[in-house]
Amino acid sequence: MISGYRLAVIGYRVKSLILLVTAYWLLSAVMGCAQKPYYKESRLMMGTIVEITCQDKFAINAAFEEIKNIERIADNFDPGSEISQLKRNGRIRASDDLLILVKESTKYYSLSNGAFDVTAGPIIDIWKKRIKAFEEKKSIPSLPSPDEIRTKLLLIGSNKILIDDTESIIRFVQPGMSIDLGAIAKGYAVDKAVNRLRELGIDSAMVNAGGNIYCLGKKGKRKWRIGIQHPRKSPKLLFTLDLENQAVATSGDYQQYFIVGGKRYSHIIDPKTGYPVSNNIISVTIIAKTATEADGLSTAVFVLGKEKGDELIKTLPATEAKIIEERDM
Ligand code: AMP
Ligand code: MG
Repeated sequence: MISGYRLAVIGYRVKSLILLVTAYWLLSAVMGCAQKPYYKESRLMMGTIVEITCQDKFAINAAFEEIKNIERIADNFDPGSEISQLKRNGRIRASDDLLILVKESTKYYSLSNGAFDVTAGPIIDIWKKRIKAFEEKKSIPSLPSPDEIRTKLLLIGSNKILIDDTESIIRFVQPGMSIDLGAIAKGYAVDKAVNRLRELGIDSAMVNAGGNIYCLGKKGKRKWRIGIQHPRKSPKLLFTLDLENQAVATSGDYQQYFIVGGKRYSHIIDPKTGYPVSNNIISVTIIAKTATEADGLSTAVFVLGKEKGDELIKTLPATEAKIIEERDM
């Protein structure tokens, strides 16, 4: 027979056990809710600031490596980059990434009816020289002569790029051609970085290469909140977006430009005229499934203008455009 005293002891022990289990359960619940901290690292790459936010420092480094690889391919200023070799030799045995980049670029060339054209390189160089001088306050740039533009226009057209897939060879039809991947390489680099993060098991991160952004998963319980800069009143925001597994990119006439005689000449060129786009648009923000798509389309729509740009976006699934014109300001 169990004595009353022993029964009281067993009762006490059961109560203690229940208390212990409850305390353990409560602690785990609280620990589960407490978020691991997010780290944000910024590096100067691809001519802009690249920022990666995630909860794993090792993964951040691995993602930056991916961006570095794309920079090595697409850097106009590095004579060893693949696009510089292509410019020098008119042909190259290309890496898989350059092949994809060029194929994606020709896809946007076709989709935009030539408004997006990476072979505008020789003309982009003419305008960028002036933008640089203006930014460094070295001079008030003179406009290029119409003859200079006309000569370079003869080199433009993505249909003059030949791709031999079996040999991975990219070749230009004409000497003097070059490609400028400034309108798509940052978006592509962001996608590469995000893929690397996914491979490493990361399900919450944000990668931002100078406004080419991908939001992986959520940040805690909420979507990632992204502020889009006001094109005329920086650092004011124009609007904010809440994104999850989506990309956003903005092309604007305020990012690189110079002003002569009160007129703004921006870095986005109309490949048909050889002159900076002048269609009343000051910024285009695209939301899409990948950063490559958002980057390519933001430039394409900027050149196409509001009406044709909106038409193009309507034909593409899971994409959205916010086009801001001068008169909206
Ligand atoms: P984004 O900021 O993505 O709109 O890209 C603009 C950059 O793309 C410029 O700085 C140029 O390097 C390049 N670019 C300019 N105009 C064009 C164009 N019509 N098609 C393709 N790339 C362009
Ligand atoms: Mg772009």
